[in-house]
Amino acid sequence: MADEKNSEGKISGLRTRAEETLSSRQFDKEEVSALSPEEIQRLVHELRVHQIELEMQNEDLRQAQVNLEELKDRYLDLYDFAPVGYLTLNDKGFILEANLTAVRLLGEERQNLIETFFSRFVSQEDGDTFHLHLQQALETQSKQTCEIKLVRKDGTDFYAQIESVAVQDESGQFNRWRTIVLDISERKRVEESLHEAYEFRDTLMNAIPAPLFYKDTDGRYIGFNKSFEKFYGKTQEELMGKSVFDIAPRDLAEVYHAQDVELLRSPGIQVYDSQVKTALGAFRDVVYHKSTFTDTQGHVLGLIGVIFDITERKKAEEALKEAKDFLDRIINSITDPVFVKNQEHEWVLLNEAYCNFMGYSREDLVGRSDYDFFPRSEADVFWDKDEIVFRTGQDINTERFTDRNGVIHTIVTKKSLYADPSGKRYIVGVIRDITEIERADVDRRNLESQLRQAQKMEAVGTLAGGIAHDFNNLLTVVLGFSELLLLGKDERDPSYADLQKINQAARSGADLTKRILTFSRKGESNPHPLNLNHEIKRAKKLLTRTIPKMIEVELVLSDGLPAINGDPTQIEQVLLNLAVNAGHAMPDGGRLIIETQPVTLDEEYCRIIPGSKPGDYVMLSVSDTGHGMDHETLTHIFEPFFTTKEIGKGTGLGLAMVYGIVTQQGGHITCYSEPGVGTTFKIYLPVVSPEGKSETTTDKPALATGTETVLLVDDEECIRDLGKRILERSGYTVLTASNGKEALHLYKKERHKISLVILDLMMPEMGGKECLKELLRIHPNVKVLIASGFAADGQTRETLAIKAKGFVGKPYNMRQMLQSVRKVLDAT
Ligand code: ADP
Ligand code: MG
Repeated sequence: MADEKNSEGKISGLRTRAEETLSSRQFDKEEVSALSPEEIQRLVHELRVHQIELEMQNEDLRQAQVNLEELKDRYLDLYDFAPVGYLTLNDKGFILEANLTAVRLLGEERQNLIETFFSRFVSQEDGDTFHLHLQQALETQSKQTCEIKLVRKDGTDFYAQIESVAVQDESGQFNRWRTIVLDISERKRVEESLHEAYEFRDTLMNAIPAPLFYKDTDGRYIGFNKSFEKFYGKTQEELMGKSVFDIAPRDLAEVYHAQDVELLRSPGIQVYDSQVKTALGAFRDVVYHKSTFTDTQGHVLGLIGVIFDITERKKAEEALKEAKDFLDRIINSITDPVFVKNQEHEWVLLNEAYCNFMGYSREDLVGRSDYDFFPRSEADVFWDKDEIVFRTGQDINTERFTDRNGVIHTIVTKKSLYADPSGKRYIVGVIRDITEIERADVDRRNLESQLRQAQKMEAVGTLAGGIAHDFNNLLTVVLGFSELLLLGKDERDPSYADLQKINQAARSGADLTKRILTFSRKGESNPHPLNLNHEIKRAKKLLTRTIPKMIEVELVLSDGLPAINGDPTQIEQVLLNLAVNAGHAMPDGGRLIIETQPVTLDEEYCRIIPGSKPGDYVMLSVSDTGHGMDHETLTHIFEPFFTTKEIGKGTGLGLAMVYGIVTQQGGHITCYSEPGVGTTFKIYLPVVSPEGKSETTTDKPALATGTETVLLVDDEECIRDLGKRILERSGYTVLTASNGKEALHLYKKERHKISLVILDLMMPEMGGKECLKELLRIHPNVKVLIASGFAADGQTRETLAIKAKGFVGKPYNMRQMLQSVRKVLDAT
């Protein structure tokens, strides 16, 4: 355009000069005739110059013309090949003018395009839009833009941006439009795919159940998913562009903000635990994952965050932990050691009992194996046993195990295989330490055998006692009658010596039965408190006389020994029997040690030793350095008639008697012996209780006589006769009854006459005890003497306690019997 103006200026300049020249010189005929030749000459010259000038001007003009043409072509080229379509529309919307681009865009020949209604190319749906567009351009007198879809002649379409401006026509009226058509299909396509990408992004984000957001560097939310909205219970509008301070409690918001600032300062990824308040006001445990995002140049644009709600997971973890704790407590409350080994034979789980059992802490043990704690040979065995379990599923073994302190245990280990869901295999083992049980078992077996022994002794005692009792009665008769006969005979009588022999033999027999009765604890004894040391010293004289000279007797007596209840004669008997046996065991001499010592026996001891009771005792031990005995002999020694000695040398009654005497005093006896080493007997006698003092009978007065009536009750005729004879000889009147019933009957009838009843305890039908009760019912002050071959044993004592006035031993000792009778009768 600038060039066009310039060339126009030049042309007008040329014209002005030619006109000037022509108009400045107006010549008429008179003037020309009046001219001098010089003047004409000058004029011709001027004309020539003028002509030349004109020719030159002509040339300029032609050049300007050419330039103009070129300009026009260039302009047309520009117009036609501009990247946008140029159209001029008239007031009806017909195309007046179109550049080549427009022609190409609309796909119609130019000549066909001119005078065509432009709306023909506007898609149906955009017809109104386009119409309105033109209208507005006209009304506003300013450029208007719209985007519509155009349809080419061949039916294909494209998006176009239309720009129109109203222009004047030749008459100066605004009734045509200059319209530019821009193909924006590419842009639209990009926009669409961008839109698709956004759609995809939003769908993706919304499909993620975890709340998700992104913010700009100022901390303003510029995007988030539905979960995020739901999490905070806010709408998109309430969140978009807001900061954390708008949606979270201030204290939490400050924390988040600080985290964000930190992350923006050093971009990367940030993960942290937190707590948030949800829409419902509940606090949830969450994990935040945040990372910065950048533009293509790497400038940080903001940050993306994902919130993982781990409340449920935490709860599950807690529940799991609780369950684990619960299991731990259970496994630890198991008192048997429990362990779990993995396939490498390493301990992975142990209960407390196992750690205690091993004597190591759990930390010491876990991850280690048997080889770290046991000798190689032992560990090899455990390893092999484990392998058996891996092969067969289970195994039970009884093993010896030496603990950390060197104590040997007997253990039963039960192992079984366990495979976890992932297929890893483990051995679960439970150990039972049966050391104590085994020990207790041995104890029990000992106890049982001891008990059996005691029962046997008891049975033998009862048997022997019964025989001895009957035998004693017989001897009583023999002894009694022989004494009666002797009383009435003169020493010179030829039968006197014979009678005396009978009497003597009966006495010996009575002595023997007395020994048996002593063993069976049914013999007579006269116990009273005494000092054992004292008795031992007294008996020592007798011992040294009895046992061979080559045997040394040593006394080791403890000072300040408490008193025991005992019969000195019996004590002497015990010492003598033990010493004699010791002497037999040391034919070539040796030592006999007699020892005393106060001891207190506890429950534990009494559990093991049958017949013993806890309490204070005096221990008497008698030891020798003789040949000792084997175990078999040891189990029989207290049995009556058990002897290992040749006939004539041993009776087998020595230890039986000792046993009887000791048990009668509430004590017990033990024996320890080793073949070739020696033997020790230990006798425990209970310390006397202060109230247990029994009186000693002082006898020796002349035969006591009387005139009263005595009722003598005994089931054995001989005894009755003997008693009757003894009493009658001393002046008494004697009534007899053979059992309790008869006695009661008689007593009821003759009650006023009868001053005393002598009552046998053991009778058929009604025994002495029952009879006594009945008698007491009839007469509470009835005087009754209990007669018994058994010493003041349990039953007798019991009967005495009921109300009997005294006791008379059988066989009747004439002097003693009369004395007891007199004593009871005289008592008030
Ligand atoms: P006896 O002496 O008549 O054989 P005892 O009852 O006194 O009967 O003893 C029974 C048995 O006990 C003896 O035969 C003997 O085998 C054994 N005995 C007793 N005391 C001892 C001892 N001090 N050393 C070795 N054996 C003993
Ligand atoms: Mg003996």
